[in-house]
Amino acid sequence: MVKPRLGQHFLIDSSVAQREIAYAGITKNDVVLEIGPGKGIITCLLAEKAKQVIAIEIDRHLVEYLQTMLPKNVTLICADALSVDFHSLPRFTKIVANLPFEISSPIMFKFLQSTFSVAVLIFQKDFAERLVASPGTKDYSRLTVGVSYKAQCRMLETVPRNCFSPQPKVDSSIVEIIPYQKPRFTVKDEQFFFELTKQLFNHRRKKIRYTIKSIYGNIEQLPFLDQRVEELTPEQIGQLSDQLYHFI
Ligand code: SAM
Repeated sequence: MVKPRLGQHFLIDSSVAQREIAYAGITKNDVVLEIGPGKGIITCLLAEKAKQVIAIEIDRHLVEYLQTMLPKNVTLICADALSVDFHSLPRFTKIVANLPFEISSPIMFKFLQSTFSVAVLIFQKDFAERLVASPGTKDYSRLTVGVSYKAQCRMLETVPRNCFSPQPKVDSSIVEIIPYQKPRFTVKDEQFFFELTKQLFNHRRKKIRYTIKSIYGNIEQLPFLDQRVEELTPEQIGQLSDQLYHFI
């Protein structure tokens, strides 16, 4: 039985799975993490190319089915991927997955706290567009800023909705994510930078002056006060965060 609340839209076009895996350039040296193997369409292909696959699936009925058909180099874990400590897993080198929409954002930030060389992920297209958006566009968001601080994201192809069953309401995209060795720019306090980014995007159409005034009081000696956060690059939000940090 399909469980929509778990984002169960299974890939039925194996050529999409093959291309996704090819983009990741998997070799026999790779240990690959997959979230949500579902019925195993990506997992089986990964197992042929990789040394080992670690697959985390929340649905125990799917896990029971997968146990009967997956090869020995797949380590299957029945759990909510958001609760698994990735540092307790065998060290993985790459991530490949067709992700459930419901956990796209938190799992993305969780990935970025671990170490890997590349992730090739299928997301709903509107989420993928937010990942790669430029300042000044409607898709530019807190997600764009938080992710682009740590990684480079590139949209590789659109996957039409009829490649999945049950068919979702929207198309998907394959996205490549390559983490930077170090964050793209430095900030004095990461937590403060992320919190400020969140507060500013909660009022994305307001001039920065008014959002800052409502939270921190009237501080005139800051840059970008007459602009809106949606116009600033991630680096500029970092500069604002560093200067504001002096005053609080
Ligand atoms: N990889 C398969 C495919 O491409 O056909 C299934 C992809 S489907 C979009 C998402 C899968 O993630 C489902 O099998 C679902 O049960 C699983 N899932 C949903 N939430 C999860 C979570 N929090 N942790 C682990 N797996 C999850």
